[in-house]
Amino acid sequence: MSAGIVRRQGKGQWIYECRPCGDQAETVDKFRAIEYGQWHEKSFQHAFTGVGQIFAKAYAELSLAVMPTVEAHSRILEPPSNLPHDPSLLNDRRKWGGR
Ligand SMILES: [Zn+2]
Repeated sequence: MSAGIVRRQGKGQWIYECRPCGDQAETVDKFRAIEYGQWHEKSFQHAFTGVGQIFAKAYAELSLAVMPTVEAHSRILEPPSNLPHDPSLLNDRRKWGGR
């Protein structure tokens, strides 16, 4: 599957455009535009952009998977609601049911 688009801009003006990379090339005929596209899609830039997108997608999926866990942990870290807010009362455990 090709990620690039070849389109005619005008007389003797053909544009090859790669959406993922944002790379654009102007050529004099359709054949050269296609040829440029084939070269570009084998290039390091194009491959790197593809890899970057895979990582970005994986990262987005990972953060979505991790988010609820982080939220659950932050709830656990909150002090129990039955503890008194006055720290001096914490020392007297009898007042809040401690032993
Ligand atoms: Zn590309």
